[in-house]
Amino acid sequence: MTCPDETKIYLPESELPEAWYNIAADMPVPIPPVLHPATAKPIGPADLAPLFPMALIEQEVSTERYIPIPEPVREVLRLWRPSPLMRARRLERALDTPARIYFKYEGVSPAGSHKPNTAVAQVYYNKEEGIRRLTTETGAGQWGTALSMACNFFGVECKVYMVKISYQQKPYRRSLIETFGARVIASPSTETEAGRRILAQDPESRGALGIAISEAVEEAAQHDDIHYALGSVLNHVLLHQTVIGEEALKQMAIAEAYPDVVIGCVGGGSNFGGLAFPFMRERLQRGPKTRFVAVEPAACPTLTKGPYAYDYGDSAGLAPLVKMYTLGHSFVPAGIHAGGLRYHGMSPLISALVNGGYVEPVAYTQTPVFDAAVQFARAEGIVPAPESSHAIRAAIDEALQAKEAGEARTILFNLSGHGHFDMAAYDAYFRGELQDYALPPDKLQEALRTLPKVDE
Ligand SMILES: *Cc1c(COP(=O)(O)O)cnc(C)c1O
Repeated sequence: MTCPDETKIYLPESELPEAWYNIAADMPVPIPPVLHPATAKPIGPADLAPLFPMALIEQEVSTERYIPIPEPVREVLRLWRPSPLMRARRLERALDTPARIYFKYEGVSPAGSHKPNTAVAQVYYNKEEGIRRLTTETGAGQWGTALSMACNFFGVECKVYMVKISYQQKPYRRSLIETFGARVIASPSTETEAGRRILAQDPESRGALGIAISEAVEEAAQHDDIHYALGSVLNHVLLHQTVIGEEALKQMAIAEAYPDVVIGCVGGGSNFGGLAFPFMRERLQRGPKTRFVAVEPAACPTLTKGPYAYDYGDSAGLAPLVKMYTLGHSFVPAGIHAGGLRYHGMSPLISALVNGGYVEPVAYTQTPVFDAAVQFARAEGIVPAPESSHAIRAAIDEALQAKEAGEARTILFNLSGHGHFDMAAYDAYFRGELQDYALPPDKLQEALRTLPKVDE
């Protein structure tokens, strides 16, 4: 049995959550409707059916508070879940802080991040609907790895359009995806109309996430037995990630502690939402005054600098219009090392909670983030992903504030993944070559000019 003051708080497999928590049932602020990209009228299930199975479309719009996790999904999750909750005692000591620092460690999954939590569920529902192949895009490779692994477990083919520059610069990410059985295509490719069009204009194109999305979506839309899968942003993705927070609630109870502040990094919002939403439910239903902090890179400051507005989910303007914080769908962020945080928009659920004042956003540049990453690695022995290190920076700053105030604050953050495939980024940091890029106001104004006009 785990005791309150242990360093690693494990749950037995029998405590693996039986249901996902759907925050749509408890949202304290309205969620604006999703609109069709061409007509700007609310979309219906039929509009999404070429890309997603009906079970996921239903989850996308559901207001049921709890949605049961199918047994075959739980069986796969059991390979690494429940994930440990850790007390960062050595970091607390290094900071000489009265704060207690806990983190939920998602790097124990086979892909090294939280992303398999949703990949497994998405592949399961597609398989149930008779889908033969899934297509997707990947930038840094985390999502491609997670989907490839999940497809392998359920016997579904997987094709990953990988941004060409990453394909060339990160060969081991590609090998990892191929190890789990997926086909990896450098994007832009000659396999789709979208790819051929780009290559005709620019044969040397190094690709971009928006282009890879267009290729994956095009292939799925043209075949009845091929669907598309997205690794963040959508309501059903955040839903699947709530296993993180449900486990953490139980583990904090074993530790006889409760967080004053819950912290996560945000790209599209899925690992933050996954940890935060069950604690948000407690705040809304029972009233503990927990604060919630979402951490983003200053180079892609969606929540801290963008407007709350309708925009397209993809760069081509083919994906639905959703109301979210956005830097404009044409925005191409600087090439920072936290590749998973380079998205122009944000989950509509998290956007609405930020707009309502329930979640506080903060932004950091790369150097303070890597300072925190290395301090954490040297204290705790875990090398964090650059994305996750944004959350660590904010957790350390909370602990230092608590020290200043002489306050026994309890901090919980999500360590969304390990950084074993990110050592080139650490190298750049050690050589002093990181650039502390923050988005300049004129670049922001330029990107926002392409925001669509939508009557509300
Ligand atoms: C993809 C990724 C993220 C960012 O995505 P979210 O949907 O915002 O969670 C963060 N951390 C890691 C390790 C990732 O792979």
